[in-house]
Amino acid sequence: MWEKFFPDHYYDSVFEIPYKELRQKNIQALIFDIDNTLAPYNIRRPPEKTSNLLNRLQRMGFKVCLLTNNGRRRLNHFNEHLKLPAYHKGMKPLVGKAKKAMLIMGVSPEATALIGDQILTDIWCGKRLKVTTILVKPISKKDVLSVRLKRGIEKSIVSAYLKKRAEAGE
Ligand SMILES: [Mg+2]
Repeated sequence: MWEKFFPDHYYDSVFEIPYKELRQKNIQALIFDIDNTLAPYNIRRPPEKTSNLLNRLQRMGFKVCLLTNNGRRRLNHFNEHLKLPAYHKGMKPLVGKAKKAMLIMGVSPEATALIGDQILTDIWCGKRLKVTTILVKPISKKDVLSVRLKRGIEKSIVSAYLKKRAEAGE
């Protein structure tokens, strides 16, 4: 019953994603969630390791953009030095802003991957857009209340997903 929420891939963190393989599969654009995907909520600017990753991905030929459900101030601080195409108040799982991002990057859903830590916002948004969806474990256990309420159901979905993956021998 949860299958429509299953991500295409699931990794421990954004640093574990096999980006080279994504390039080989002709993924050209990466849309990243910010909070608890690239940095904990309380870290205003990207850690050096994260900036380095995002720069490296661009050198590899990816178009990279940020899409957060958080507000303008959060995004502006985070993106100040990165200077990536970026969207705040993304309202994921609604697809409007993500579609806009793909339009501006000039990429199709088949050439796009969306990466985030929440199933009911990030992954669901990606599934509706028919892009490649990549779930990562949240960086920090600290969530804002609105997110904490969803974590229970997300846990059930991840368990069902892992069970199916194990059955499929992946
Ligand atoms: Mg998040």
